[in-house]
Amino acid sequence: TYILSIESSCDDTAAAVLENSRILSNVVATQKIHEEYGGVVPELASRAHQQNIVPVVDQALKKAKIDKSQLNAIAFTRGPGLMGSLLVGTSFAKSLALALDIPLIEVNHMQAHLLAHFIDDASHRKPNFPFLGITLSGGHTQIVKVDDYFSMEVIGETLDDAVGEAYDKCGKMLGLDYPAGPIVDKLAQKGNPKAFEFPVPNVKDLNFSFSGLKTAVMYFLEKKQKENQDFIKENLNDLCASFQFTVVKIIKKKLEKAVKQTQIREVAIGGGVSANSAIRTMLQKQEKNKKWICHIPKFEYTTDNAAMIGIVGYYKFLNGQFTDVKTSAKARYHI
Ligand code: ATP
Ligand code: FE
Repeated sequence: TYILSIESSCDDTAAAVLENSRILSNVVATQKIHEEYGGVVPELASRAHQQNIVPVVDQALKKAKIDKSQLNAIAFTRGPGLMGSLLVGTSFAKSLALALDIPLIEVNHMQAHLLAHFIDDASHRKPNFPFLGITLSGGHTQIVKVDDYFSMEVIGETLDDAVGEAYDKCGKMLGLDYPAGPIVDKLAQKGNPKAFEFPVPNVKDLNFSFSGLKTAVMYFLEKKQKENQDFIKENLNDLCASFQFTVVKIIKKKLEKAVKQTQIREVAIGGGVSANSAIRTMLQKQEKNKKWICHIPKFEYTTDNAAMIGIVGYYKFLNGQFTDVKTSAKARYHI
């Protein structure tokens, strides 16, 4: 079975071709335009998707050495995401499915971040059900109990900012470019994580909160800069390391609680922030010390990509879960 998948929920235009659960091509065009603005500008994202979608899909087909006529289905991200961005991928997928007269399959982007672990790739194991999925991304921070491919339940989530948002906003305060997450991660590796102490919030149940950390960093920087204008410049690595240390502490604490509560020790992370080196190291340690079974995705399947949309599309194809072409994009779309 050949499936073409399309992802356009935020600021990456992506297309992939799968042969069953194997990736034949995985193409991503990251929109550079947002860097100038320090964050994603929805109207500009939508326009860039319109320009990128045809060449990105063409390239995915070419790299896979597949002709359109060989495709068995088109999978696309229906939501959640930015409406103007989602509309581009959704409309394109609908038109192509109609033109080729093949089934259309809608995919939930957050389910896809977790099910990316089922992509056939000899370099990683696939999780066993049930497992705890943790989505750590630019718009979400959730703990999900995954009982089966399409039977999952959010058992904890952030009450305010997402973890990726905290990275990007704190990074911005430190004068770093957007998206700041990967830059903070890199600088943190050269800094002292105990140099400064930021508070770990007390949040009920399995929920998260990152806005307090953001505010704490803001006030701390304001105070220190009054004493020394060059404070950030002189302490950048230590600031990144201390911030990252706090984030990891928050995530570790909640995961331990979730494992205890559910008695599930198999843990799979997903989403852009799961590329983070400190989070990966923390999980590897838990695997050793707490006998967890941890699943860490390959880098190319962490931030937004269409391969993860394709793998969900493949499982839906096997189940005959097709979507009517009358479907529409859905900006708010729960797991
Ligand atoms: P969502 O999936 O919730 O709709 P999104 O698709 O915008 O949001 P992703 O592409 O999954 O989010 O992730 C992007 C986020 O990941 C950004 O906030 C970025 O800073 C962060 N990120 C990427 N790499 C790293 C890293 N190594 N360390 C920390 N954060 C990172
Ligand atoms: Fe995402």
